[in-house]
Amino acid sequence: MQHRKRWAIAVGMAALAALVAACGGDGEDERTVPLESLLTPVETSAPAEAAAGDDAPTPGMFPPTPESLDRQLDDDAGMRQRREHLVSTYVASVVQTGRVLDAMRTVPRHAFVPTRYLDEAYNDHPLPIGYGQTISQPSLVAMMTDLLALEAGDRVLEIGTGSGYQAAILRELTPEVYTIEIIPELAGTARRIFDELGYADIHTLRADGYYGWEAFAPFDAIIVTAAPDHLPSPLVAQLKAEGGRMVIPIGPPGGYQSLWFVQRHGDDIDMSRVLDVMFVPFTREADE
Ligand code: SAH
Repeated sequence: MQHRKRWAIAVGMAALAALVAACGGDGEDERTVPLESLLTPVETSAPAEAAAGDDAPTPGMFPPTPESLDRQLDDDAGMRQRREHLVSTYVASVVQTGRVLDAMRTVPRHAFVPTRYLDEAYNDHPLPIGYGQTISQPSLVAMMTDLLALEAGDRVLEIGTGSGYQAAILRELTPEVYTIEIIPELAGTARRIFDELGYADIHTLRADGYYGWEAFAPFDAIIVTAAPDHLPSPLVAQLKAEGGRMVIPIGPPGGYQSLWFVQRHGDDIDMSRVLDVMFVPFTREADE
């Protein structure tokens, strides 16, 4: 990504406030901020529940795994044909990386949506998945994935498991996928879909993703699929120091946000604005 302009702001709370304001508004498209300015505030850990299937689950703290799963997990020639049409018509025009396009051709998006939306699963738009949440638009999933420039073996963290679709796409690109969802029912449903579709080694957690997943940090890449109004400092701290990348929408809930590409170079955090997007709000444990 080209850096047309770089600037650094002073360390401290004032700097953080300036960054927060700039990231939510019509500020610069490119900036560099010192890591220290992001690390001054707040809590850095929170209680978390392990989703069923996680490495060290805590008995009695599993999210509810649905008894009957309202998903069609089987794939067939008709679905594959519609998927191919989606990729060649809508996805290939925004992403050219072969590995990302192959992942989009492989993952059965229809298996991640409630069955009443089966007929729409291969249209290039978001769909409801319950609890007021959505599965993202496929071309945007592909574009955000492409920005992460994942290589096999990279460790990637997703905040906002939702349907599980984005995590499955990531799993096609690298074996080390970690994903966090705040809504227990969605975490439980995604866990079950992963297990049934052959993505059992995706690591899932039911928690407020604001705090990242310290036990598995640092991450080569972090993707955030709900929009906070500022850049969560614990996530920046969990990026690999040299070249760790993050893709994150930042902005006010209910409107358009800016999608940012964030890259860490030691103590410098480079930020580039990519485009305007509309994501569901990033909620906090205390909001619930
Ligand atoms: N990546 C998903 C998109 C789901 S929409 C997919 O492929 O389907 C975003 C999700 O982020 C929602 O499920 C929402 O519940 C979740 N979310 C919002 N705030 C969160 C937080 N603080 N921590 C973890 N997940 C969060």
